[in-house]
Amino acid sequence: MYELKELLDDGNQKLHDELAKRLTIKLEQSVDSYWHVAINGSEVIIDVAETVWPAACFAHELLHVERRLQGAACPQFIDNEGGVTPQLIGYLFNVFEHVQIYSRFLELGYAAESFIGDSDVADIDVALERDLPVLEATIAQGKTPPLLNFALPYVALESPPPHPRREKYRSRLDKITPSRIAQNVPALLQKLSAYHGTDLRHVFGLFFKIANMPRIGFSNTGSQDDIIVAGNL
Ligand SMILES: [Zn+2]
Repeated sequence: MYELKELLDDGNQKLHDELAKRLTIKLEQSVDSYWHVAINGSEVIIDVAETVWPAACFAHELLHVERRLQGAACPQFIDNEGGVTPQLIGYLFNVFEHVQIYSRFLELGYAAESFIGDSDVADIDVALERDLPVLEATIAQGKTPPLLNFALPYVALESPPPHPRREKYRSRLDKITPSRIAQNVPALLQKLSAYHGTDLRHVFGLFFKIANMPRIGFSNTGSQDDIIVAGNL
């Protein structure tokens, strides 16, 4: 397993030192060959895995930690549409956060391709490879899939870093996707990349509005007081 000094470089040293003043950062060997981070109170556990970019992967996880310290958290949701799971919302939150931290990652001096390292990023191409043929086959049978089934692959496509390999999926998707999805989901994530705040209720709400699922609401507090309903945006 890497020792801390093997994970630090000019790009992430300052970030690490700032975070280490406020939190205890522990390293553990990853059990699944992917990087993960878990924050429990003032203790952070980063699961480290063998990689060609140890410092970049460490920086990536530290940027997630920095967001937590800034107050970023996955909003709670009320689903009156049906079928939206905590797993889906958690997945979207992770991609949204990647969109938000990606520019900072590049500013620290790391190469775009080294942003990949933790499990969720690596899973994206697998998901596209699996879901796109299903979508194409459904349409070929004359059926109309829910708009969410079109919106999610665009989220995957926009998930950083950009990769030429993904563009073949985009051209296949563009052929079968209603234009409100093909245009508005990428536009939403482009906008998000310039937003570094911690309140993602609007982003979630707009995403589900685009997917024509207006009866889903998002709250940071878990109460009705600050709920934002997709259909009202
Ligand atoms: Zn990540």
